[in-house]
Amino acid sequence: MSVEEIDTLVVGGGQAGIAMSEHLSKGGVPHLVLERGRVAERWRSERWDSLVTNGPAWHDRFPGMEFESESSDAFVSKEKVADYFAAYAEMIAAPLRLGVEVLEVQKIGGRLGFLVRTSAGLFQASNVIAATGAFQRPVIPALVPDNSGHMQIHSSGYRNPDQLPSGAVLVVGAGSSGTQIADELARAGRQVYLSVGPHDRPPRAYRQRDCCWWLGVLGKWDSPAKEPGAEHVTIAVSGARGGNTIDFRQLAAQGITLVGRTQSYQGGVIAFNADLPENIARGDSYYRSFLDEADAYVARNGIDLPEDPDARRIEPDPKCLTDPILELNLSDNGVNSIVWATGFAADYSWLKVDACDNRGNPIHQRGVSTEQGIYFLGLPWQMRRGSSFIWGVWQDAKQIADHIVTKRNYFAYRVPSADERR
Ligand SMILES: Cc1cc2nc3c(=O)[nH]c(=O)nc-3n(C[C@H](O)[C@H](O)[C@H](O)COP(=O)(O)OP(=O)(O)OC[C@H]3O[C@@H](n4cnc5c(N)ncnc54)[C@H](O)[C@@H]3O)c2cc1C
Repeated sequence: MSVEEIDTLVVGGGQAGIAMSEHLSKGGVPHLVLERGRVAERWRSERWDSLVTNGPAWHDRFPGMEFESESSDAFVSKEKVADYFAAYAEMIAAPLRLGVEVLEVQKIGGRLGFLVRTSAGLFQASNVIAATGAFQRPVIPALVPDNSGHMQIHSSGYRNPDQLPSGAVLVVGAGSSGTQIADELARAGRQVYLSVGPHDRPPRAYRQRDCCWWLGVLGKWDSPAKEPGAEHVTIAVSGARGGNTIDFRQLAAQGITLVGRTQSYQGGVIAFNADLPENIARGDSYYRSFLDEADAYVARNGIDLPEDPDARRIEPDPKCLTDPILELNLSDNGVNSIVWATGFAADYSWLKVDACDNRGNPIHQRGVSTEQGIYFLGLPWQMRRGSSFIWGVWQDAKQIADHIVTKRNYFAYRVPSADERR
């Protein structure tokens, strides 16, 4: 069987793979990007219909191209994001092979490099970059049995309210996905229960600047790691309907019943932790300290931005917060479906090299793995907070490309001949 040789293989043609291709080309590294679907397939087909970006168009993009026909403050639809990356790939003439799935990567015995088995044949590469995304395998906690009689889907499978059987819905998880889906369902007239865990809740905008701007000027996009103790804390932010702060009291005012973390299920009854007030208080505290830091920055640097006292107004607590329900009999309350907005896990089962721990998670330093020649890109907090986001992955890809270029220079070294030394 023939084997195609290439210096560097990029697995995945999402934003990470496209950014990687741009920097590899600039560094003169021969490479191919293998994508099992279309460019930015996850934006195209693995998100709900109404999804828009969480950051405005001026921010959630690569430096080399703006979103056509979008106001710079707009939150761009998922289709337009996918179109953007397809156009970007064309602009940089990314060497893409679409519809090619990487099935297995193995170290070649006794020499540098990897044998890569794909749906379109074998490749041999000195470097393989896993750019398959931070959000690969949907995670659903094993709480409610499949035969419970309630439809259960993960947020990655949710498309729109019509997809769910009529009746009330329990949405588990109140990060960016869960809160947006709960809001959409409530606006479509559904009775919604929203199970809220620990979360950070930035203001959408403050003092006429979007939170992405504040995260930038306050240096938070560059934070190297989550604060200790915040590893399992999600972030609740949304660009839906022009962009509004996620406000749980407002969601309750719309008719959504807030409940604590989903704890267990037995005989058709879901039990919730009594942690709802604590989780909401934590989000409020993050919100207030965000405003405080912004105010301090304005004062310290003499920046001319109007004050925004309304942002500090917090509505009174709704009844579901002061007296949270701890149990919900699903059938008695007409709950026919559960949307699990409970996050994703890594899946590098195709990477049969020494680069993952025994739980399958990458072992790496800033994307450079423990197996020489294997790199990761687009992981959460890979180099900084921004790493898994559009603008951040472009910066990280540059560093991975620099690493590969430097390594290629080492291998290009030849001992000068006697003539050359003279
Ligand atoms: C609901 C949601 C909303 C988000 N909103 C924003 C936002 O507004 N702004 C922002 O900056 N970020 C956002 N993100 C985070 C991030 O930008 C996206 O998840 C983005 O899709 C990640 O891009 P990526 O290229 O790293 O991975 P992906 O988009 O997941 O791309 C990986 C690609 O690899 C391909 N692939 C996987 N396995 C293989 C294989 N074995 N062989 C070949 N190809 C393979 C997949 O088909 C896919 O196209 C959001 C994430 C989610 C889940």
